[in-house]
Amino acid sequence: MLITSKLPEVGTTIFTLMSKLASDCGAINLSQGFPGFECDPALLDLVDKYMRAGFNQYAPMSGVPVLRERIAEKTKLVHGVDLDSESEVTVVSGATEALYAAVTAVVKKGDEVILFDPAYDSYAPAVELNGGTPVFVPLEMPDFSVNWERVKSAISDKTRMIMVNTPHNPSGYVWTQDDLDSLAELIQERNILVVSDEVYEHITFDGREHLSLLTHPLLRERTFVCGSFGKTFHVTGWKIGYCLAPPKLTEEFRKIHQFLTFSTATPLQYALADYLTQPSRYLTLPNFYQKKRDLFCEGLKETPFEFTPAQGSFFQMVSYGHLSQESDYELAVRLTKEIGVASIPISVFFSDKKDHKILRFCFAKNDLDLNKALEKLIDIKL
Ligand code: PMP
Ligand code: GLN
Repeated sequence: MLITSKLPEVGTTIFTLMSKLASDCGAINLSQGFPGFECDPALLDLVDKYMRAGFNQYAPMSGVPVLRERIAEKTKLVHGVDLDSESEVTVVSGATEALYAAVTAVVKKGDEVILFDPAYDSYAPAVELNGGTPVFVPLEMPDFSVNWERVKSAISDKTRMIMVNTPHNPSGYVWTQDDLDSLAELIQERNILVVSDEVYEHITFDGREHLSLLTHPLLRERTFVCGSFGKTFHVTGWKIGYCLAPPKLTEEFRKIHQFLTFSTATPLQYALADYLTQPSRYLTLPNFYQKKRDLFCEGLKETPFEFTPAQGSFFQMVSYGHLSQESDYELAVRLTKEIGVASIPISVFFSDKKDHKILRFCFAKNDLDLNKALEKLIDIKL
């Protein structure tokens, strides 16, 4: 049998590769982005309660009503935005599904989709599998901010969508009000929709506020906002998230969602609905992660790396081009094997795989592991 690959350039994701290498080498895994500690036992008790109470069959396609309501309440509390939980909130099996369903709902053959470069690895394949063409706009080094003149030049009559990610993976850049205003101004006279990946919405530092695209009146009418409980409640393996979008967009989104996964694990939905009744459970997250970022950055000062503390997300980038010309991929593999600390080479996030001599470390780990990793990193030879 001959199969013509639909994604000939795509292999296994770097996250899978580096996590496996870390495990094979017994290294501290600061590569793939997942918390290295357990979630709140109260959340586990709630899942247990609902599983034992018989909430084990299919949930409604769009999500259980009480969870959709709680998500709408959270959005009101955090962003001051009113959402109709019936027609504007959909529960999905992880943000990856939300991103794919949103792109599939809108993008047709021949459409262009603007992606910022570097971008999270699932965006371009989602566009391509739907017959669209990714048009990459480079982010500005060193802070990975958006150059709006470049976005303007990238827009054409074929542009159908722009995919946004704030706080940004891998750089941690957090969009400003100017960014939101600039995007709105560029698309207001055009038939362009937006997908906004906001999975790190509750992880921003130094008093910086995450500005959801929902907070902008024009963008609110055009945007699919994708969120993930995996990031917010330290349960990435549960694969549960949500998509927030105006009714017409949600209607199209659900047409795809119902044939991708149909619905999402029922006991998890009821448990999360209960868990969300205490807002402190997500409002304390910036403080929780800022301590980890600060601990990690303090230790990094003793290493040969150069870095600027991340504005948001649970990733810290470091550069080493001032000391070595070794490729970021080779260095990430070597550090895993030789000193036992795994990271992600960020060349994989760039459309042309260009090597900028930058590694990404995930600091969503317990302090003991972060300290152990830092001790090892002090001794590296570049
Ligand atoms: N978007 C970004 C920017 C991510 O970093 C991730 C994964 N960590 C996802 C989407 C996927 O989220 P989920 O695990 O909920 O599918
Ligand atoms: N989002 C995670 C990261 O950036 C990885 C998720 C995955 O492995 N697909 O590390």
